[in-house]
Amino acid sequence: MNLKNYITDVPNFPKEGITFKDINPLLANPEATNKAVELLAKGLYGFDATKIVGIESRGFLLGILLAQKLKLGFVPIRKPGKLPGAIISQSYALEYGEDSIEIQENSIKPGDLVIVHDDVLATGGTAAAACKLVEKCGGTVVQCNFLMELNFLEGRSKISNYPLHSIVHY
Ligand code: AMP
Repeated sequence: MNLKNYITDVPNFPKEGITFKDINPLLANPEATNKAVELLAKGLYGFDATKIVGIESRGFLLGILLAQKLKLGFVPIRKPGKLPGAIISQSYALEYGEDSIEIQENSIKPGDLVIVHDDVLATGGTAAAACKLVEKCGGTVVQCNFLMELNFLEGRSKISNYPLHSIVHY
């Protein structure tokens, strides 16, 4: 099964010049979703991870399935203002301006071995900020894990300190 058959290119979405990778056809097909989770999980055996962190919002979809498959707890990283209680925040640069993401302070404990998961590795800014959040909580990032990597954007250079596993490349 070729997972690329279940990922659609949407030109000029959400902005002119961006080709959005739509994973809804993959999510709509249980065999394709299962195959994706299996391939993502294959790269994780042997890491002794204790938690999976998923990045809002499409990182939640396969992230939580992956966490269930590996019998690990799932922790969401969210856009600002969405998480209750004590939070830790990390900002990162966008092409124009800045954005930030947040995690609940006690969701990751010192000693936790953490997989950071998202649907797409593009420029790498979001994943790098997510890794910083895990480390601010005292956790160790043992792998960055993506359904897709947009190789031409060289996002892997921003997270070169961590093992990287992505299963579909463009
Ligand atoms: P970046 O920080 O540039 O690596 O962007 C990664 C985040 O933006 C991920 O959470 C993705 O869901 C989203 N993203 C970036 N580029 C795309 C794309 N071409 N198609 C779908 N999502 C994307």
